[in-house]
Amino acid sequence: MNELSCKVLIVGGGPGGYVCAIRAGQLGLDAILVDGEQLGGTCLSVGCIPSKALIHAAETLHAQCDAAALGAMGMAAAPRLVDFARTIAWKDGIVSRLTTGVGALLKKAGVRSLRGRATLLDGKTAIVAADTGENRIRCEHLVIATGSQPAALPALPFGGDVISSTQALASPVLPKTLAVIGAGYIGLELGTAFAKLGVEVTVIEALDRVLPLYDAELTAPVARRLAELGVKVHLNARAGFAQGALRLTQTDGGESKLQADKVLVAVGRQPRTQGFELEGLDLVMSGAFLRVDERCATSMRNVWAIGDVTGEPMLAHRASAQGEMVAEIIDGKKRAFDKIAIAAVTFTDPEVVSVGLVPEAARRRGEISVGMFPWRASGRALTLQRDDGFVRIVARADNHVVLGLQAVGAGVSELSAAFALALEMGARLEDIAATVHAHPTLSEAINEAARAGLGHALHL
Ligand SMILES: Cc1cc2nc3c(=O)[nH]c(=O)nc-3n(C[C@H](O)[C@H](O)[C@H](O)COP(=O)(O)OP(=O)(O)OC[C@H]3O[C@@H](n4cnc5c(N)ncnc54)[C@H](O)[C@@H]3O)c2cc1C
Repeated sequence: MNELSCKVLIVGGGPGGYVCAIRAGQLGLDAILVDGEQLGGTCLSVGCIPSKALIHAAETLHAQCDAAALGAMGMAAAPRLVDFARTIAWKDGIVSRLTTGVGALLKKAGVRSLRGRATLLDGKTAIVAADTGENRIRCEHLVIATGSQPAALPALPFGGDVISSTQALASPVLPKTLAVIGAGYIGLELGTAFAKLGVEVTVIEALDRVLPLYDAELTAPVARRLAELGVKVHLNARAGFAQGALRLTQTDGGESKLQADKVLVAVGRQPRTQGFELEGLDLVMSGAFLRVDERCATSMRNVWAIGDVTGEPMLAHRASAQGEMVAEIIDGKKRAFDKIAIAAVTFTDPEVVSVGLVPEAARRRGEISVGMFPWRASGRALTLQRDDGFVRIVARADNHVVLGLQAVGAGVSELSAAFALALEMGARLEDIAATVHAHPTLSEAINEAARAGLGHALHL
């Protein structure tokens, strides 16, 4: 057994763990990063990046085959042709480039990385079974960044034709028909992409609308677009198996059957807390997640936890921000995770972005003003042939301090930075209205929504 020691041992090389490791290395801390799989975690290998690659590929094909949209511009449609094995190979190329890049960044920062699964002996020791043999690693600080995995449905366990997002993003064969269980962001992003690739997609959701974590106003354009794309959506319905077919049970008691080549179960993700003797540390939990304070400290001294294993929002950028902070705290800096805003972006069609408070939540705190600007009034949106959706700004009624910004529309994911910045900087509606926004851009709608909140939109 190899004996290794370090100041910081990070278990998990996803966006939480690898960012923590890079920052630790930059600060001159002796750090070791351990991951049982390739570097980059869920995000780079089976999550954010592969899903966005597939969404882009599907949208590119769809745009070239959309006869109505092309016809309006005096163009003709191309025949639909998909060699999906090559699409997947192209996606894998991007993943490989990024994961290799993470390895290079770790090396540059002077971080040692080991490929192998870690088992925790205590809060300062782990055994890592690597290809090169067993290692006992002793550390002063342990950072748990083990992420999350797809949650299973007891009625539809994974296996055979019942797949998770991981398999959906890896299979080189396009199914003819796909049932997606769960209309959350992962189910809808993938379902929409497969629909654009020519797959017959049916979505089954237990609640009464798609993307139930967003408000109804934001999700309505997404529901309309799904219908336009031919995606069938069953709301208030639960799925199970009966006699070799999917059985849908509506909340009103109605039942129906559905045949699908593949069933994608996308009902959420659960923290990865099992299988590496974490329970031996007896850390305080918060439900299924590890409980951490505002410094990402667990209940054991010098044991830290970051990313999906610590709870919602389970997002890559939150994991990375926590990882960077923990490295700085270990280096002796005074830090706390006091972010006002963590943008939640859904790469559906149209995209949805929400930062800060939505009107309903803001109203519970006091009087508010809501400014909206629809894409149908935006020159840029019209040139992109996408006038569905809007930008919305929620502000305090008394002093106009912005409390939340949301948008639904094609390409609005790129507005998330401006939204988050406005909230973190404590912007007022007047600040956004007084900032000159370039024309013609989608960003102009932020300026107009702020003016609408002040009662004097220019283009409405
Ligand atoms: C389909 C899909 C799409 C997504 N899209 C987005 C998006 O657009 N934007 C966004 O912000 N988020 C998205 N996410 C969520 C995002 O991927 C996660 O929030 C993020 O990866 C969490 O990072 P993490 O570092 O906490 O954990 P992970 O990325 O899950 O990494 C954890 C790592 O720990 C390793 N590990 C676990 N246990 C051990 C052990 N005992 N020993 C060694 N290694 C171990 C695992 O192998 C893994 O590599 C998506 C997720 C999915 C599934």
